[in-house]
Amino acid sequence: MLQAEIKSLFKEDISILIKVPNSAKHYLCDCGEASLLTVKEVQSVSALFISHTHIDHFSNFDGIFRHQIGSGEKVVICGPKNIHRQIEARLKSYTWNLIDENAIEYEIREIVSEQEIKVYKIRPPHWNLELIKTQDFLFEDEYLNVSFAILDHKTDSIAYLFKEKDSVSFNENGSRFKKGKWISELKAAFERSENDKEIEIEGAVYQASELFHLLTLNEGCRLGVIMDHAADEGNYEKIKTVFENADRVYIETFYKDEDREFAKTNHHSYASASGSIMKACGVKEAIPVHFSRRYTEIDRLEIETAFYRAFGKD
Ligand SMILES: [Zn+2]
Ligand SMILES: [Zn+2]
Repeated sequence: MLQAEIKSLFKEDISILIKVPNSAKHYLCDCGEASLLTVKEVQSVSALFISHTHIDHFSNFDGIFRHQIGSGEKVVICGPKNIHRQIEARLKSYTWNLIDENAIEYEIREIVSEQEIKVYKIRPPHWNLELIKTQDFLFEDEYLNVSFAILDHKTDSIAYLFKEKDSVSFNENGSRFKKGKWISELKAAFERSENDKEIEIEGAVYQASELFHLLTLNEGCRLGVIMDHAADEGNYEKIKTVFENADRVYIETFYKDEDREFAKTNHHSYASASGSIMKACGVKEAIPVHFSRRYTEIDRLEIETAFYRAFGKD
């Protein structure tokens, strides 16, 4: 089960850290102020997912790379159109004469459209962008893959869905055999649908499909992060396509219902609108995030109450 932690305090902007259980790999959604984000966590971030580059989502990018440089790792950064230029500008604004070219490598994936992702490489000390290739998917590693929707916030705002890979587990109690390397062979045969694969256990040979009942397929969880977006039908169609039946979604809920006119002017969402779209998606769990900094704790409670009433789980 993927875990997500909000790393920003109430009056701070927004940054959400996603962790994979039993793995040291983390993924960071947006780079707003994040007092709860530790240096160790930053150093474990293998990919950054930026929704858009309004200052409240991008101001702490310097704080992030401050702790990544020197790791020698490759770190992926996904973001909207022009993200590569904005990263380049930020990196080039410092002096790097003491930094080695192998100190880090950023791979930037610019989301041009649903089907077109441009991949760039950028490294110290000169930080010159190099276009590597164009691909039709955003992100996949050994633990998860990431799909997205390009929402409208008077600029592109990318909403990300993290889909944990399905896993296969062995039912130890249902087995009369001794454990051994045959279990991993059986799992591999199951994953590749090789029903006829021969599996040897304690000197006897079995057909893989005869043993599949010893395995259970665990469906990976689907976790979403939807940042700033206008509360309108165009965005809702896209949100429904990507986030339908997701297990848990964090969604921007910048305004109280009584301030919905501000939401409209600023291409943002408000409490009952965010709750309703989560209900329409059939999301199992929804969490409102990223409230206007003008609000007090009491306003926040008001937002949450209206959100969960609209979501249908108050
Ligand atoms: Zn914004
Ligand atoms: Zn924002």
